Amino acid sequence: MRVYILTDLEGVTGVTLWSQTGPPDLAAYEASRRMLMHDISAAVEGCLAGGASRVTVLDGHGLPFNLVPELMHPGAEYIAGRGLPHTWGMDEGYDCGMQVGCHAMNRTMDGVLYHTQSHLNDARYWYNDQELGEIGQCGLVFGHFDIRCVMVTGDYAACREAEALFGPQCVTAAVKYGYSRQCCRMLAPQKTYELIRNAAKAAMGKVAEARPLKFELPIRARVETLAVELPETASPEEVAAAPHQVHEGICPTQLDVYAF
Ligand SMILES: [Zn+2]
Repeated sequence: MRVYILTDLEGVTGVTLWSQTGPPDLAAYEASRRMLMHDISAAVEGCLAGGASRVTVLDGHGLPFNLVPELMHPGAEYIAGRGLPHTWGMDEGYDCGMQVGCHAMNRTMDGVLYHTQSHLNDARYWYNDQELGEIGQCGLVFGHFDIRCVMVTGDYAACREAEALFGPQCVTAAVKYGYSRQCCRMLAPQKTYELIRNAAKAAMGKVAEARPLKFELPIRARVETLAVELPETASPEEVAAAPHQVHEGICPTQLDVYAF
């Protein structure tokens, strides 16, 4: 059984501030990278315990390299760097997909570090009139290759979003509970390791009943972004009330949603 694991950094154990997700605060970012490896290792362990024969992990956070090589679980292979192929290295041979370290879509008020693609321009995306965040966008890419998304980890709001989209066949592991965009109640790494490992193992048993996310093709895509620059201190109400611009297009396949 082959498993493809997508990763992000905002939904990883111990992360609740933008400053933890990249430079210039290198000490905070390095700590997050180590927690990313912690959460990945827990998922890989669970996959192997659930019968996976091959596990591929993609480093998917904005910066080109977030992994820490000396902390890589030897039971997986890792994709990272600049110039990612259009297919993200996926093919129809993968039996299931998982998403580790996820965050909720933009404007999810109890979502830790909520955003869709960019947290600076209030971006929102719709496909065939359904709004999706990054969990859904990744679900569409998985779906292009008939890969079922069977597990999602992240904050509670991200897990709720995943369950609504993929159904009860998608097992989730919530590692923190958001109070607001940059404040949460979090669990300790020792605890989240267990949660993620158990979720991944349980998910391996759900592959047969899970279904890939499929949208009618071609997909009508729409993105809305802020048309003006606002200070980072702007409130959610001020952001929502500011002028926005809309861009519409067509995605011939589900693989094209990120290129749109
Ligand atoms: Zn990210």
